[in-house]
Amino acid sequence: MNKGEMLYEGKAKKVYATEDPDLLIVSYKDDATAFNGLKKGTIAGKGVINNKMSNALMRLLEKKGVPTHYVEEINDRETIVKKVQIVPLEVIIRNIAAGSFAKHYGVTEGTPLKAPTIEFSYKNDDLGDPLINEYHVIALDLATQEEIDTIKTYAFRVNEELRKFWLTCGVTLVDFKVEFGRLSDGTIVLADEISPDTCRLWDSKTGDKLDKDRFRRDLGGVEEAYQEIMSRLEQHIG
Ligand code: ADP
Ligand code: UDP
Repeated sequence: MNKGEMLYEGKAKKVYATEDPDLLIVSYKDDATAFNGLKKGTIAGKGVINNKMSNALMRLLEKKGVPTHYVEEINDRETIVKKVQIVPLEVIIRNIAAGSFAKHYGVTEGTPLKAPTIEFSYKNDDLGDPLINEYHVIALDLATQEEIDTIKTYAFRVNEELRKFWLTCGVTLVDFKVEFGRLSDGTIVLADEISPDTCRLWDSKTGDKLDKDRFRRDLGGVEEAYQEIMSRLEQHIG
């Protein structure tokens, strides 16, 4: 399968057409951004790690009954995926208070939550991805109630499966963001990526951050953290 026209260049990936109208090729970059693009940088080797990690986790989730856009990894940085119409929501699940949740609600970062939470942000860079609730989603015609219900079911299933998997690696899944899309027949599938860019992953023993917060917060050892989390995954994935 060959790359056709570049359809989109985002902050972390490029998206190409292919000869099959139902398939795309995504190409992962080393570029890193934070705070809605205000902070920019490069994390050497990130594209390769995010591509391989996202694919491995999507293969795992498919086995656990979560349909995904994943089709085939074609090289270190590039993957064939099913083309979807992205539902313009960032779906965020949290197990432990961190980041914007800790700030909004005045909870110390690291406080375990009584139960996992879900929230939606409207995927719109110009508006700064504002928080949005289900009524807003329906009122703005971003998704139907049935689609929202499916997305919630899948998102919590993703959480349970990834939480279990990362625990076997000695890693705590603190929170993460996922995106969903519609195939041409309307089926909802998990899309985009699952990687240290989109998850908070803490070493279960030391609490060390093994994710993009090292970049966001200038903690140093960014490349090393991405390599460490990838090597843990490779040692434990089936
Ligand atoms: P951003 O748009 O936030 O800068 P990226 O650099 O990751 O993000 O760009 C990838 C884009 O491709 C995102 O807008 C994402 O929603 C979209 N996307 C991810 N998976 C698919 C897919 N299977 N089909 C169509 N678009 C997708
Ligand atoms: N996240 C993401 N993309 C975004 C915003 C958040 O992947 O545009 C992820 C982030 O990596 C974390 C989770 O979603 O794992 C929750 O992020 P939070 O709302 O705490 O935002 P932040 O503190 O990153 O601003």
